[in-house]
Parts: sequence; structure tokens; C-alpha cells
Amino acid sequence: MIWRFKEKQPTTSANLKVESDLSTQSFDLLRAIDAESIVVAPGDKVIYYSNGINTFNLIKDERIQNKELNNLVRAVRRSGIQQDATMELPRGPIGGGTHDLLVRVTSMGDAGLIAVLIFDDSEMRRLDSIRRDFVANISHELKTPIGALSILSEAVLEASNDPEAISKFASRMQAESKRLSDLVQEIINLSRLQDDDPLKNGKIINLSEVINDAIDQSRLNAEKRKITIFFEALDDAQVLGDKSQVGMAINNLIENAINYSPDSTRVTVTLKVNDQIAEIAVSDQGIGIPEKDLERIFERFYRVDPARSRLTGGTGLGLSIVKHIANNHGGDVSLWSVEGAGSTFTLRFPLATQEVSEKISSQE
Ligand code: ADP
Repeated sequence: MIWRFKEKQPTTSANLKVESDLSTQSFDLLRAIDAESIVVAPGDKVIYYSNGINTFNLIKDERIQNKELNNLVRAVRRSGIQQDATMELPRGPIGGGTHDLLVRVTSMGDAGLIAVLIFDDSEMRRLDSIRRDFVANISHELKTPIGALSILSEAVLEASNDPEAISKFASRMQAESKRLSDLVQEIINLSRLQDDDPLKNGKIINLSEVINDAIDQSRLNAEKRKITIFFEALDDAQVLGDKSQVGMAINNLIENAINYSPDSTRVTVTLKVNDQIAEIAVSDQGIGIPEKDLERIFERFYRVDPARSRLTGGTGLGLSIVKHIANNHGGDVSLWSVEGAGSTFTLRFPLATQEVSEKISSQE
């Protein structure tokens, strides 16, 4: 974990006193603890916070922006008694995910300083539940191509005198083993995402750039099907996160738009900003999704038509990867679709705040 001191405070005598107090004893201690931390001076002024605190969007204008946490700080200041609490913070202003935090607030020396220590428990809990049902689903999905390979290899043995049949079975074996390797690759992608918090070591990402790259990756597939991809950037948008993950999410949506559309149609990608939220919409003129399936479409391995999905090399994991990436970035993904008319998937990410952008660019 990287620890960094906040930029220098204006040198008032009060701050100098605080800084000298902190540098002698307490910074060392704060750095040694495996937790994020905030130090609050009298008057509720934040005088120090560790880098990871940025992830929680807790601090603005040198104040803690969370009522519950401010109440805890005041309670400690009044009573001198350490307070422990659990807190759930949204991962972003709109996002589906939460940070599950254990918070400890305690007084620190005689200068009226209060330390807030934050332990992030979300990862452990999230990973636990995800792993459990993932293992169950995956064994089922892997069995299908493995079973097919075993039957096909028996068929090859039995057809040893029939070269035409052998070549037919062999090409089906190739298709099944490609499917198996695609599936394994997607599983690796998904498990990487689940182990990762892109906000913690996030970079500032320019969304127009990422969208253009994602479109380029799908260009060949689209051309084969005479599908045209349009991109319209109505606004500039910078978000905090992992560029390759955000690119993967956008590319998955574009690939689906192509795969589930008839030839010679168009796919439109738009980027705009609404109320500090970046919105990327991917629209197609494809087969659409029946209303009864809309609710379950982001579940792992859920497919409207498994046979069609298999035909296009689908694994049923693409949209759950998209949803993971959106939630991990404090965003979300939503869907509008009419069967037979087309679909629009909208990814939303909170824009990087000025404070976070400045802090990150000062580290680079
Ligand atoms: P797959 O690998 O099967 O494409 P996804 O998780 O990406 O898996 O998508 C799940 C299912 O959602 C697909 O099998 C398909 O039935 C449906 N789907 C996804 N995107 C679209 C789209 N743009 N138009 C119509 N159906 C879609």
C-alpha cells in the first residue's frame, strides 16, 4: 500500500503545531497500520488523509462529507471514548456496488486530533459469495464441450476407414476446443476482475479514446457482416479507473451488438455527460431481447438462445463482465430493448472529480 502525506498545509501557527505533533509520533504509526486513515483537527478540519481515501469520495474542501462519520468524530471529541462502526458507502453516485467498511475513530494526543481508521471489508465478502456460485456454474458449462470432445473422439476411432467422416468429426472437434479455450479465457478475465479494485490504483481515462480503440477491435467482425459502426462524442469525459477494463466492457457491448444483429445494419455508439456522469450508449438494430429475459440478462451464463450464442462463439459471460466492470468503477449498466427492433445498452461512469484528477496527476 502506498502512503503519501497530503500536500503542505498553509503555514499558520496552528498548522505548524499540528504538523510537528504528527510528524514526530503519529505518521509513523498511521503508515504502519494496514488501513486507510484520516486525521481531523479541532473545527472538523481534515489535515491528513492516506491516498486510498480518494476511493471513497469522503473528503471535499478539507471536510469529511459523510454525516455518520462526522457524528462519530464529534462523539469521540466529546467523550474521549473510541468508537467502532460498520458503514456502507456507494462506490459512486449512481453505482450498484458498495464499499463495506469497518470504521474506528479514536483520539490522538492532546492537540485535539482525531484519527479515523478505515478497513475495507467489501473485497473479502464479495469474493466469498462470487466464488461460491461461480464454481457451481462453471463446472456445468465446462462439461458440455468436454463431453462433446469425448464423443467426437470415439466417433473418429470408429470411422477409421471413412476419411470423409473423420474430417467432418475433426472439424467439429476443432470448433469445440476453440469454444473451450474461449470459455477458459473469459473465466480468466472474469476472475481477474473479481480480484481487482480499479479505483484503488486508478488512472484518469479519456473515454473517447477508449471507445475509438474498442470500435477498432471490432472493425473486422463488423465488416464481415456489412455492419457500420458510428461513434458520436457529444462531450469530453474523463473517468477514474482501469483503461483496459473499461475498454473490455465497451468492446463486449459492441461485439454483442454485431453478433445479435442482421447483416447490413448499423451500430451506434454515443458518449455524453449528464450531471457529472458519463454515459456511453451502444445501440443496434438487431434481434432485441424478450421482456421476460431482461431481468436476468446480466447473470453469468444466462443466454436468451444458447444455440445462437454458441454459433457466434458466445460464452454467456460477456454481459456479466460488463456489469462487474461498471460496478467496480462506481458506475452501472442498463438496458433498453424491444424484441425484433433492437437494443441499447448504456454504461454510466462517474466523472473523475477535480480533486482526484489533481491528486493523481501530481503523483505521475
Ligand atoms: P454471449 O457470450 O452469449 O453473447 P453475453 O453475456 O454477452 O453472452 O450476453 C448474454 C445474452 O444476452 C446473449 O446470449 C444474448 O442472448 C443476449 N444479448 C446480449 N447482447 C445482445 C444484443 N445486443 N441484442 C440481443 N441480444 C443480446
